[in-house]
Amino acid sequence: MNEELADWIVKDKAHCWHPFTAQDAWTKPEHEPVMLVSGDGVWLTDANGNRYIDGNSSIWTNIHGHAHPQLNAALSAQLGNVAHTSFLGYSHPLAAELAARLADFFSGSTLSRTFFSDDGSTAIECALKMALQYRMQTNQPERCEFVAFINCYHGDTMGAASLGGVEAFFSRFRKFGMTVRFVRDIDELRALEHLDRVAGVVIEPLVQGVNQMLVWPQGMLSELSEFTQEQGIHLILDEVMTGFGRTGTMFACQQEQVVPDFLCLAKGLTAGYLPMAATMVREEIYDGFSGGRENAFYYGHSYTANPLGCAAAIASLDLFSSDKVLEQLPLKIECLKQSLQQLEYSQPEVWQTRQCGMVSGIELRQSDGSPYAKDLRIGEKVCLAARKFGLLTRPVLDTIVFLPPLSITIEEIELSFAAIAQGITQVFSDVRKNIAIE
Ligand SMILES: *Cc1c(COP(=O)(O)O)cnc(C)c1O
Repeated sequence: MNEELADWIVKDKAHCWHPFTAQDAWTKPEHEPVMLVSGDGVWLTDANGNRYIDGNSSIWTNIHGHAHPQLNAALSAQLGNVAHTSFLGYSHPLAAELAARLADFFSGSTLSRTFFSDDGSTAIECALKMALQYRMQTNQPERCEFVAFINCYHGDTMGAASLGGVEAFFSRFRKFGMTVRFVRDIDELRALEHLDRVAGVVIEPLVQGVNQMLVWPQGMLSELSEFTQEQGIHLILDEVMTGFGRTGTMFACQQEQVVPDFLCLAKGLTAGYLPMAATMVREEIYDGFSGGRENAFYYGHSYTANPLGCAAAIASLDLFSSDKVLEQLPLKIECLKQSLQQLEYSQPEVWQTRQCGMVSGIELRQSDGSPYAKDLRIGEKVCLAARKFGLLTRPVLDTIVFLPPLSITIEEIELSFAAIAQGITQVFSDVRKNIAIE
């Protein structure tokens, strides 16, 4: 290890605090964190010069690859103008342009108003506050509850977290949050009492990311949309992960011809370049905030509609058109499907694979179908092993997530799966010889 790298690691272990991380294990002397220093397309390079495929799009954000010349140029151009100006009391051209472009995706509907914020959690936070304030201002204050789905994930700020259905993350904060009821599916939703107290139903459409890439049954979303409309409940779609081509269409909801009341976007909005989010709202809801100052939406962040973020988002949308990104996906999605099948066939420990467009999960279980003991951390071990073969990704429990930038090539998908297969083989080589894993 070179001296510079050793110094960075010392400083990290002494002063940084990593998300979702057991810091005691992270700071152990034998743990050598990967320090990523540069990127190029789907490839990332660490401080030792090792190159890896970015198998989870840098936590589900990157779309067109790293250091993309057009994105970099758009950002440099905006930097030459100004990096940040306030959206409170002022506007700027790029925010106006971006909001109009987002509305264009839903032309013919009333989903045409965008409120900007900073990340996925705040996109959700805005939707919740808007949904509640809308009901207060339209004479329905009793509609102040939300319904979410078991094992869902909507972010980590307090409001978004109270919607979270993953017990391990959220149970300790539950009592500080909003009133949320959890259901497994639409039948349970239909059976709920007091639906007239519900302001909105929140869902990750088509696929629940943090729930080990669980794919919803086809038609579920359109059925949900019909039901919420019938009941006068708002449909709040969390497309923070699924937005911007991830599932094969620009937005997941388009696959079931659903236009929600609220659409929350973040991660891929700036192609994975900068933290920025958008909460899109129907005009009917927006109209509930008219009638003077006291009815205004009193909410905002210092970096709302940050011009650099807007520049990246617009350049990303330009790339979607000029590079025909969506048009190229079917071949890649088919290649991913075959790679998953092949892996399931060749690796006995792969219990199930799940796919929704370019989003996939590979779940490992014991041969009798029961999960591995949690403390074995099998998913983590396989990802660590795959790293040695040139792939970076993270598991959710024992599900290996493969969710690459959309710019990945067929060859790079194949390289990624070779690394996953080698990783699995390496971790289980002892088991296959009947020796227990520690
Ligand atoms: C990542 C994610 C969030 C939270 O977004 P942050 O930018 O991490 O705050 C919310 N919902 C879904 C579906 C996500 O995948």
